[in-house]
This record gives sequence, C-alpha cells and structure tokens, in this order.
Amino acid sequence: MKKLCIGIAVFCLSNPSAWAWEIHKNLMPWVVRGLSAETLKAIENPFKPQEQGMQNENTLSHLIMELQLNPKTKLDPLNATHAREILLSGAVDEPDHGMDENLEDSADPRNDRAYMGGKTGPTSKGFRHMFFAGWNLAHPIRSFQIPPRPLGLAPERAEILAKKARFLLQIENRAWGFRVLTWAMHFIQDLSQPFHSTQIPSLEIPLWSALLGGFGNLVKESTRTVANFHWAYEGYVNTQVLKGDRSPFADCLTRAKNYASIKVNRAEIHPRELADAIAAASVELAPTVGDSVVEFFGAKLKNPEYDLPKDKGTPDYEKLSVDPTLAKQRQKLEQVTCVALANGVMGSRLLLDWAIQAVLKTNR
Ligand SMILES: [Zn+2]
Ligand SMILES: [Zn+2]
Repeated sequence: MKKLCIGIAVFCLSNPSAWAWEIHKNLMPWVVRGLSAETLKAIENPFKPQEQGMQNENTLSHLIMELQLNPKTKLDPLNATHAREILLSGAVDEPDHGMDENLEDSADPRNDRAYMGGKTGPTSKGFRHMFFAGWNLAHPIRSFQIPPRPLGLAPERAEILAKKARFLLQIENRAWGFRVLTWAMHFIQDLSQPFHSTQIPSLEIPLWSALLGGFGNLVKESTRTVANFHWAYEGYVNTQVLKGDRSPFADCLTRAKNYASIKVNRAEIHPRELADAIAAASVELAPTVGDSVVEFFGAKLKNPEYDLPKDKGTPDYEKLSVDPTLAKQRQKLEQVTCVALANGVMGSRLLLDWAIQAVLKTNR
C-alpha cells in the first residue's frame, strides 16, 4: 500500500514546471497594448517621489506575513516612476522565484503538495500555481485525476493577492499595490494554461505501455511524459509570443476580447469569479490542447531519451515553427492556444481595470 501511495504522489507531480507560458513578462507588453484609454492614463500617472524606490521594507515584511510567503523572500529593488513600468518590469514573474516555496504546513491545509510537487524545493510552489477542479462524473475521462478531489490554490491566490493589491492602492501605497497586482495577474495567467488546470490534458499523453512494469512504473513514466509535453508546449508558445508583430498570436494577444472563451460580464467581475471562469475555460480547451501537442511534437516525446525538465531532448522550437510538413498540426495547436492566451491576457486586463476602478470609486 505504501508503495502505491508513493506512486500516486509521484504521478501527481506531473506538472513540475510551475510557470505557465514560460515567462510571464513576455505577455505583459501585449496586456498593456490593449488597455482602454482610461486605464492607460491611470497607469501612467506618476508616483510620488517617495514611492519610486519601493524601499519600504515594512511593506515587504507585512506582505510576507499577510500573504503567507516564504519568510526569506527577497525582492529586487524596483525603481519605477509609474505603474506601467511595474507592469512591464518582470515583477509578474516574482511569484515563481521562491516566495511560494518551502512553506509551512499551515499554508497548505488540504495537503495538496503531497500530490503537486512536494513540500520542498522549486516544485513545492506548484500547489499555488495550479488548480485541478476534481473528477467529474459528467466528464469521467476528460476530468480524470488522482486523487479525485479538487487540488491546488491558484484561484484562491489570485483573489487574495488582488484584494491585497487593491487595499495597497486604496491607502495610496501605489508602487507596492501595482507590484502585488502583477502577482495576482501571474495566477490568472497560470490558470489560462490548460496544463495548469488539468492533470492529464489528453489520454494520449500517459505512457500506458509502462503498466507492464507495474502501476508504479506507469506513474513514473507518465509523470515524465506529461512534463515533457507541458514543457514543450510552453517553450514553443514562448518562442512564438516573442516574435512581436510577426507572432502567429499577435492578433489574439492584442484583440484578446475577440478570441477569449471566458464568459464574464466586464461590469461586475470580481477577481475570484474571474479566476474560476478562466480555470473552467482552460478545462474546456484542455482536450484539444492535449491532442494537438501529441500530434505536433510527436509521440516520440514519450520515449525515454526525452526528459525536458532535466534538459534532455529539448525540441528545436524555431524549426518546428516553420516545418512545412507540420503545417496542419501547427495550425490546430496555434488555433486553440490563441484562445487560451486570449483568456490570460483579457483576464489580466480585467483584473487591472477592477483594481483601478475600485480606487477611482473610493477617491470620488
Ligand atoms: Zn506560476
Ligand atoms: Zn507550466
């Protein structure tokens, strides 16, 4: 029995990369690009001189306590004259740099870490950066996961951070407020990546033949294969996002509203509803993403010589982006990814609007 439990735990490490879309910073110029004139004006409003250096250590220790962050969290100094700079600075990636790692058990009351990356090391942040809604009888195959209960805190973290950000903005600690708001956006963006909202996006991904070596072997090998496709997907998408106006995603990222599949009413969006809507939209997209990555990268990624988190067999993403023999598979993959990216970008913009509107209202 013990062996089985260990096996299951390993299986649930299947998303060891705790980032989504590889580097969130690369999405932020697109987020800013499509903002309304009113929001743009608000984020270009200069900070007071005392806010620019963000040297206030008190705010950081307060945040560590209130947000249950790793007590050793260190942040780079962020010198910004207005919010737009913070949005583009890379602060959006800070949640991946240690603040959610090696936490006390009290931060993980349901013990999700047993199934999502363990309690120590870089993978121990995974439980805050993913959310698997749980096994659902209506879609027994699509929603299959171990264990069947909901796992992960990403929607909750998006909400907690967004509220803290809004509070800081309301007390006019604006530089920190916007910094924390980019952290909240990080979780919204994580949830828009279907590999962060489903444990097994496609039944094509596990290495079922490994069952011949026993259940433990199936679990071990499938952990590797899920991670391979997860990493390849994010690596490829990042390569394409970085192409700017030549990116196949340029239009989805700019006019995200026209492509997004989240069903939200802009006027009354609350961060938690937004996070839940994005997670649900990702679950819908997951089977197509799962099938597309297998068709595009090939079933060869399941072979033992591929272990992408360990730098073994990383695909040539640039070559894949132009290979004429993969035109059809590429189109299918990019089409579904366009929707997922649009959800993440639109969600980030909605969150920003929510925070700014709340502050404008209190100042009126
Ligand atoms: Zn993350
Ligand atoms: Zn990821």
